[in-house]
Amino acid sequence: MADLNKTYDPAVVEDKWYGIWEERGYFFADETRPGPRFSIVIPPPNVTGVLTMGHVLNNTLQDVLVRFKRMDGYVTLWMPGTDHAGIATQNVVEKQLAKDGLSRHDLGREEFERRVWAWKERYGSTILLQLKKLGSSCDWRRERFTMDPGLSQAVREVFVRLYEKGLIYRGQRIIHWCPRCHTALSDEEAITTEGGETGHLWHIRYPAEDGGPGVVVATTRPETMLGDTGVAVNPDDARYTDLIGKRVVLPLMERPIPVITDALVDPTFGTGAVKVTPAHDANDFDMAQRHNLPPLVIMSTDGRINENGGRYEGLDRFAARTQIVADLEARGLLVKAEPYRVPIRRCERCNTVIEPYLSKQWFVRMQPLAEPAIAAVRNGDLRLYPERWVGVYLHWMENIRDWCISRQLWWGHRIPVWYCEVCGKETVARTDPTQCAHCGSGTISQDPDVLDTWFSSWLWPFSTMGWPEETPTLRRFYPTDTLITAADIIFFWVARMVMAGYEFMGERPFSEVCFNSIVRDLQGRKMSKSLGNSPDPLDVIANYGADALRFTIVALAPPGEDVRYAVEKTDLGRHFANKIWNAARFVMMNLETQPADLATVKTATLDLPERWILSRLQTVIDDVRATFSNYRFNDGALALYQFIWHEYCDWYLELSKVALYGNDAGRKRQVQAVLLHVFEEALRLLHPFMPFATEEIWQALPLARSSDSIMIAAYPKSDPAHRDAAAEGAVGRLIDAVRSVRNIRSELGIPPNATVSIHVAADGRGDEVAAFEPYVKALAKVGTVGLLSAGERPSGEPSALVEGLGEIFVPLRGVVDPLDVRKRLEKDLAKVEKELSAAQAKLSRPDFVDRAPADIVEKEREKASTLRARQGTLQRHLAALSAES
Ligand SMILES: [Zn+2]
Ligand SMILES: [Zn+2]
Repeated sequence: MADLNKTYDPAVVEDKWYGIWEERGYFFADETRPGPRFSIVIPPPNVTGVLTMGHVLNNTLQDVLVRFKRMDGYVTLWMPGTDHAGIATQNVVEKQLAKDGLSRHDLGREEFERRVWAWKERYGSTILLQLKKLGSSCDWRRERFTMDPGLSQAVREVFVRLYEKGLIYRGQRIIHWCPRCHTALSDEEAITTEGGETGHLWHIRYPAEDGGPGVVVATTRPETMLGDTGVAVNPDDARYTDLIGKRVVLPLMERPIPVITDALVDPTFGTGAVKVTPAHDANDFDMAQRHNLPPLVIMSTDGRINENGGRYEGLDRFAARTQIVADLEARGLLVKAEPYRVPIRRCERCNTVIEPYLSKQWFVRMQPLAEPAIAAVRNGDLRLYPERWVGVYLHWMENIRDWCISRQLWWGHRIPVWYCEVCGKETVARTDPTQCAHCGSGTISQDPDVLDTWFSSWLWPFSTMGWPEETPTLRRFYPTDTLITAADIIFFWVARMVMAGYEFMGERPFSEVCFNSIVRDLQGRKMSKSLGNSPDPLDVIANYGADALRFTIVALAPPGEDVRYAVEKTDLGRHFANKIWNAARFVMMNLETQPADLATVKTATLDLPERWILSRLQTVIDDVRATFSNYRFNDGALALYQFIWHEYCDWYLELSKVALYGNDAGRKRQVQAVLLHVFEEALRLLHPFMPFATEEIWQALPLARSSDSIMIAAYPKSDPAHRDAAAEGAVGRLIDAVRSVRNIRSELGIPPNATVSIHVAADGRGDEVAAFEPYVKALAKVGTVGLLSAGERPSGEPSALVEGLGEIFVPLRGVVDPLDVRKRLEKDLAKVEKELSAAQAKLSRPDFVDRAPADIVEKEREKASTLRARQGTLQRHLAALSAES
């Protein structure tokens, strides 16, 4: 039997065990091992990432599930890795270069890519090392990176297949353009500000070519008028009948443009006339296509007005806006400017205002891919937890738009398309071609763009397993079982993985998706770097231990609700770890060198507390197991907390002392066996949540072990033979009885060291009172327990009712002076009543109830109710005491 230090030191214990586990290969998923298997892929953090509280929650949940499955007999794979994170990583390296006054263009593409790889080699595993600190039991031997050769081959294969199927095309479209990152973005990367942003709706007059008043159009982006090639009205709009087919003059540019009709123009919005800017608005682009209006691009890729903008050329888009509004006003063409909430999108990476921009990009036709992904969720092949995400998922899928996958970046998978200078056709190939597939010309050049980062992450569940090769890993571990992820990437990643799974593997990529909570601060704000409201998880681990952080964050995270976290809350986990540590020390101090195995103990001969704690253990085993299948990990954590802290430590350890400190050697051995058995099973139950402390303690216990580590020991299964409803009921009453006597002692001011006698009026329950006697004596400092005969009720003695047992009387005579007690109780009662009437007065004031914050009012109500209960107790005791005199 090893010794446990007096206090638990997580830092020493955690590093030691992580090293041992990894070295012994416990994290490795051996595909040749027979038996059921469980697999899960990590949501790959960006290589630029550092551990956040969001990662802590997400990875702890995955580790809890993975450790449970591993212990439960599954060959378990947790596939780890990182994402190359196109824009994010390119930005990091560009920022570094900027310090030396360089841009990526100064280096050239090849050298720049080399620099990014160098950066990745140096810093790219930071977050993985941090995940190890947290205890994550990933199969590190299989670590993947989205730009590994294997994964790059998968990306290439997928591009070619989709291209050949006609699902990838190149088109002139309005895309979201970030003028700072100089790239196109997908819908999901162009973040809409909820409720819009402060701005204006400018009403501008376009005079008729013949000198008439013309039309008034409204816009939130007046600078785009430089690119107007028409004005549209609804064909049924009587106000404009005279103008239809004629031309108006585009102010400032003095360019005549036609007035067209389109049924999609809403006559009730604004003046019913809209400007048509095909190159800078998606709807206008579609309308222009219907009417053969030419697109006119008036901005360069950095957001400046280009040569098509006349005298505004060279101005930044926002400077141009100011200038144009001023010029319109000077010409008397600005009809009005009203404050307006403008729908604006911003770049997910740099927060720059996105420009809808006409550009030639590559797209994936998504609708055919979405069909099986919709069916999967509808028919239950794929389940989402919490269920409310089903609606969100289906809505997006059913309204899916084509995915813009080309990015004007240098860091990423280069688009495998070569353009021919001779015939102008494109060659798309699995291996880099040297000549045009159409005319055989050697003068071909590769598309300079790279693919959206998510174009590799959407293949993650199978590309990490070796696809397109038919690898043993893929055969053994695909499809995966569960995906645990943050909900904010449901469209970026989850939905697309589902589509890719069905398209390329013919099968779902996972059967269940569990969306974890969002971690917020105590004020409800999402934790973020820019707000500076997120603690550094590594500091928390250093100060509290990884187990404490893991347990706390899981316990605080009910599925579907946000977590309110602050560092101090980690005390929950820290105190729990210390409690278990102290319990372990108690257990070990009270064991023989070779305690009996419970299997050798005749359980029928066990006393009540042993039968009770064994029965409770079976319930908690079933409860915790159930929480793994419905992803209510917080309930599992709290069930263990309740069982270990309150039932095992608070009550069972106390009850066990009767036998441990007694003289009956046979009983003592029984109790020791139960003490150890329950504690050891509780440790195994808790291991997925607190892997380090449970291992350290488990190794120290005097056990006949069947495995070298708790992390590969079997997860407990409940044993119906230990279910004992009668014992649970009886010990419930015993606990109530002990509590009642303790309460009376403290309420009446009986000194802790004074022994009292009690009388129990337990009509018909005499046997139970006898069974309780030794425990009540030990736990409530009772000298003798007397049984009252039927109907006998002493007067003048304070008492308490114990449901299902009877009434317990605690005579004061000989212990304290009843007169003193009465005086003190009367004083207490007067004080309580005064406080109570003050609280009641406050609560009857409408100005308080209606105007004070709800939680303050609620607190006041709770206070009043506590005071009322206390008043009742005092009155009852006083009544009993008065009956005597
Ligand atoms: Zn940007
Ligand atoms: Zn050619």
